[in-house]
Amino acid sequence: MQQLIGFGYWRSLYEPSLPDPAWFVDASWDKTERQQVAYYLSQGHLSCTWMGFSWCRFRCGIPAGAMGASDLTDGIYCWPQGLAHYISKHALRLPPELVQYILAQPAFPTEQARQALSSHDMNLDWWRTQQGSNPTAKSFLSETDREINNFIRLYDRNQLFFEDYTEDGLRAIIQLAQELKSNLNA
Ligand SMILES: [Zn+2]
Repeated sequence: MQQLIGFGYWRSLYEPSLPDPAWFVDASWDKTERQQVAYYLSQGHLSCTWMGFSWCRFRCGIPAGAMGASDLTDGIYCWPQGLAHYISKHALRLPPELVQYILAQPAFPTEQARQALSSHDMNLDWWRTQQGSNPTAKSFLSETDREINNFIRLYDRNQLFFEDYTEDGLRAIIQLAQELKSNLNA
């Protein structure tokens, strides 16, 4: 099965090893390029639907329903429907190799996207290595502060267990829980 290369998936309490959207904010990005990239992404074909709506990591107030709950694809890459919001409202700039790839397409590869729809296996290895231009910036890890408190409570009760995590994934979650806890006590 063909693997799609995922990008635009963000860090959260339960996915701490993904990049933070704040790392990619670059208001100086050329407007025309930004529009071209946003337009390309908007033409993606629906590849699969997640169980819940995505929420904005900057907590800007956009209703979660407006962010979408699906993944889009062009047959090579796949990205969440809500990525367009970050690019147009929060001035995110995608990594240069992605921008070059998108701008090099003469038109949206509709046929290629259609053929990929039956296989939405996604590989995030490349995306996990991306650090943007400002790797110390931070957005929110959860939609509400209450979720953070709840996360810490689960950690304290030793209930942060998820079958589908890898060893590295679990280690990242535990490290995050410890960090959040020490911030709380600081
Ligand atoms: Zn937002």
